Amino acid sequence: MPSPVYTLNTAGRSHSGPTGLVPQMLALFEAAGFAEMISPGDAVAIKLHCGEWNNTAYLRPVYARALADRVKALGGRPFVCDTVTQTYGQISPRATGLDLLITAERNGYSAATLGCPFLVADGYNGTDDLRVDVPQGFLLKEAYIAKAIALADVLIVLTHFKGHPIGVIGGSVKNLGIGAQSRRGKHNVHMGGHPTYGLGAATDFHPERCQGRACPKWEACEACCPWGLFHVTETSIEWEREKCANCLSHLGATTACGVCDHPEVTVKATCAAMADACLATMETVGRDKVGFINMAIDISPFCDCVGFADMPLTPNVGIFAGRDPVALDKATLDAVTAAPGMPGSAAFDYEAGESGAHKFSAASAVHYEDISEEIQLHTGALNGLGSLEYELVTVPPLANASLYSYPDARRNREKYGPIFAKEDPFPGELYDGKGYHRVDVVDLDRVSSTNGQGE
Ligand code: SF4
Ligand code: SF4
Repeated sequence: MPSPVYTLNTAGRSHSGPTGLVPQMLALFEAAGFAEMISPGDAVAIKLHCGEWNNTAYLRPVYARALADRVKALGGRPFVCDTVTQTYGQISPRATGLDLLITAERNGYSAATLGCPFLVADGYNGTDDLRVDVPQGFLLKEAYIAKAIALADVLIVLTHFKGHPIGVIGGSVKNLGIGAQSRRGKHNVHMGGHPTYGLGAATDFHPERCQGRACPKWEACEACCPWGLFHVTETSIEWEREKCANCLSHLGATTACGVCDHPEVTVKATCAAMADACLATMETVGRDKVGFINMAIDISPFCDCVGFADMPLTPNVGIFAGRDPVALDKATLDAVTAAPGMPGSAAFDYEAGESGAHKFSAASAVHYEDISEEIQLHTGALNGLGSLEYELVTVPPLANASLYSYPDARRNREKYGPIFAKEDPFPGELYDGKGYHRVDVVDLDRVSSTNGQGE
């Protein structure tokens, strides 16, 4: 059975108030039946990616704010949330609850902007989680779900759809499959300690290529691992690989010189595990209590978890919503594939700028040759997460302006008449009623012409 995926035929464009991206998103929220999931008093988690320090493609907070306002109007008690990250790189600006809150606030996510709390869903050290079994899992048999998400009554998954250097795509499946896992759960999904797919097992390690302490970067290599597993000697490097948790922090330090690689098999396994962890999250919250929204705008090649954002790979392709994250990501991915590449973007750097080209395989998973964009989705079809078959349901833009809640919807005469009667902002009593000191007539044709000379 194909799963319904709701969208508008605006392709991510706007040309009027009701077709603005916020009303479009709310129109899909209603059309996909998300309002019916919420009962008065429900704790409603709005899960999103708050963006890395200095990333600029993450979703503007207004989308979460509009969803939170709608949830409150329905009687729910919303909170917006994200989870702490693995340490990932040399410096990690979201790897404790404190750092995540500071980064989120810098990116505009706070109670003041959202009208509801912003929570670190897995706590200060990423261990505030609920362990659940995943008997249907393709690769994972357990998951550690961020507790604030696992215990919520309703979950709205608001996703910026873009590329990802490991996930290949960053859509709804990844937003839960990595983003709803605690840090402890992220180590699981990233294959920490796995006897076949973990970095400790699968890395092609070449200590003979290391210059040892003669290398100007040796101190960075010793400092990169939170567990202190790398030891640079006078002439080489040692690695306690059997203890590796797959936090990924050493990759930037040791891959450029060829001492370590980032094995493709680890990446593929991680993509598959994301679908298992997404499934675990949905089953824990309750399948009938989870709704997904993909915002396919500002489609950057790398995830919002990197500290920069490149030009989008394609123009905006639109907003999509549904209950089946596999169908939703598949529909969104198909729309990106069908779109022409953005001139000047990385899609053309990697010869994937044509309509029909697999832009994320080419320009997001740049370290791998032709890795599939659909590992998460194929795994999700196997483990019962969802369906690769979808039916696009096109809905009209929002007709009911009350749903996007202006702070004061009174018309101008009623609202501003009394204010202007007390203090008139137009100085009509000056300059014979003209208000300001200006030239009565000038040669506008001259400055409107192409050369500024009237020609
Ligand atoms: S692993 Fe590479 S970067 Fe690190 S000390 Fe050795 S040669 Fe230098
Ligand atoms: S050795 Fe493992 S635990 Fe240490 S930095 Fe590398 S990936 Fe992380």
